[in-house]
Amino acid sequence: MKYIDQLDLKGKKVFLRVDFNVPMDKSGNVTDDTRVRAQLPTIKYALDKGAKVIIASHLGRPKGKRVEELSLKPVVKILSKLLNKDVAFVDDCIGEKAQVAADKMKEGDVILLENLRFHPGEDKNDAEFARQLASLGDIYIDDAFAVSHRAAASNSAITEFVKICAAGFLLKNEIEYFRRAMVNPARPFVTIIGGAKVSDKIGVLEKIIEKVDKLLVGGGMAFTFLKAQGNSIGKSLCEEDMLDVARKIMQKAKEKNVQFLLPVDAVIAKSASADAEVKVCGIKEIPPDWMGLDIGPATISLFSDALQGVKTIVWNGPLGMFELAPFSKGTFALANAVANSGALSIIGGGDTDTAVHQAGLSAKMSYMSTGGGAFLELLEGKTLPGIAALEPRV
Ligand code: AMP
Repeated sequence: MKYIDQLDLKGKKVFLRVDFNVPMDKSGNVTDDTRVRAQLPTIKYALDKGAKVIIASHLGRPKGKRVEELSLKPVVKILSKLLNKDVAFVDDCIGEKAQVAADKMKEGDVILLENLRFHPGEDKNDAEFARQLASLGDIYIDDAFAVSHRAAASNSAITEFVKICAAGFLLKNEIEYFRRAMVNPARPFVTIIGGAKVSDKIGVLEKIIEKVDKLLVGGGMAFTFLKAQGNSIGKSLCEEDMLDVARKIMQKAKEKNVQFLLPVDAVIAKSASADAEVKVCGIKEIPPDWMGLDIGPATISLFSDALQGVKTIVWNGPLGMFELAPFSKGTFALANAVANSGALSIIGGGDTDTAVHQAGLSAKMSYMSTGGGAFLELLEGKTLPGIAALEPRV
C-alpha cells in the first residue's frame, strides 16, 4: 500500500475521503470538532505540497436522499478556521457543479463536497457513482478509517477509476499502531474488553486469546462469563445463549495459558439510574433483584495490578455503565491505570474513546483509534474492504 508522503502532489487534484461524521446539535452547530482535527495532518500536508484538495465525507445516515440536517455545510466554518484559509463548499459531490468547482481550483485551494450519502450509490458501492467521484481528482487519498469496514463507492469502487491511490496519515497511523499491537507485540500483552454484550465481541475474544498474555473482561459482558462459572448474578446483564461460548472462551484461555481475569466485586443497584441506591458487594453475593453496573474497588485493584509492568495494552469497551456517574468509577480508574502503565496503549471503540476523553486522559494514551466497528473488525483479524482497496492489484 502507498502512503500520501510517497506521492508527488504538486498541482494535482487530490480527492480526499475523510471522516467528518461530526456530532451536531438541533440548530446545526458542530458540538465536537475532534474528527475534523484528526484529518488535519493529511489536509495540511497536501496543501503544503501544492495540491488542490477536494474533500469528501459522509455525515449520519441520510439513506441515499438529501436531508438538510445532514448537510456538511456547517463543517466549512470549522475547517476554514482550523486551516486558517477559505474553504469553498459545493452542495453536491458529483455532477456539473462539483466538476466546474474542481476544474477551477488553483494550487492550495480546498473544497468540501456535500454529504456522499445523499446519493444511494455511495452505500451500494456503485461503480457509476464511484466513476463520477473519481473524475473530480487526479489522485485518490483515503483517510477515513472509521468506515473502512464497509465497502462504499468512495472508499472501494473509486479505486478502480483512479490510477494513483494511497492512504492518508490517519489511516497510516491506525494501521501502524494496530500492527505494533497485533504483529509481534512487546510482551506482556494485555487486552481489556468491556461493554454490554458478549455476542458483539465473540470474534474479537476468540482471535485475541490467541495473541495475548492476559485478558481482562469487565462491563456488562462479564456477567455472562460469571454466570457460566456458576455464580448468581441477580438481574445483571446476561446473554443465556452465550453461556456455552463464554465457557469455550475460558477453556481456550486455560489451554493457551492466558491469564483470564473477571471482576471479583461489583457496584450494584436495583435499577440502572443515576439516583438509584448503590452498594458494593463481592461477585458471589449479588442479591437476586440487584444488578452489577460497574466493577468494584477490589476489581479495580486486581485489574490495575495486572497492568503493572506490561508492555502492550489494547482496550475496547467500558467496564461499567460509565454514562451514569455512580457507575463510572471503574472505567475512569482503569483509564488512569492504562494511562500511567508506561505500556504502548491503544484504545478503540466509541464508548471507550468517550470515557477516556471524559477522564481527560486521551493525550496520555499512545493511540486513540478513530474506528468503532472498523477497530473491532481489525481485532477480529478481518480484512477491511476500505483498506484492501488500497492494496496494489496484481
Ligand atoms: P459496547 O458498545 O458493547 O462497548 O457497550 C458499551 C455500553 O455498555 C455502554 O453504553 C455501557 O453503559 C454499557 N455497559 C457497561 N457495563 C455495563 C453493565 N455492567 N451493565 C449494563 N451495561 C453496561
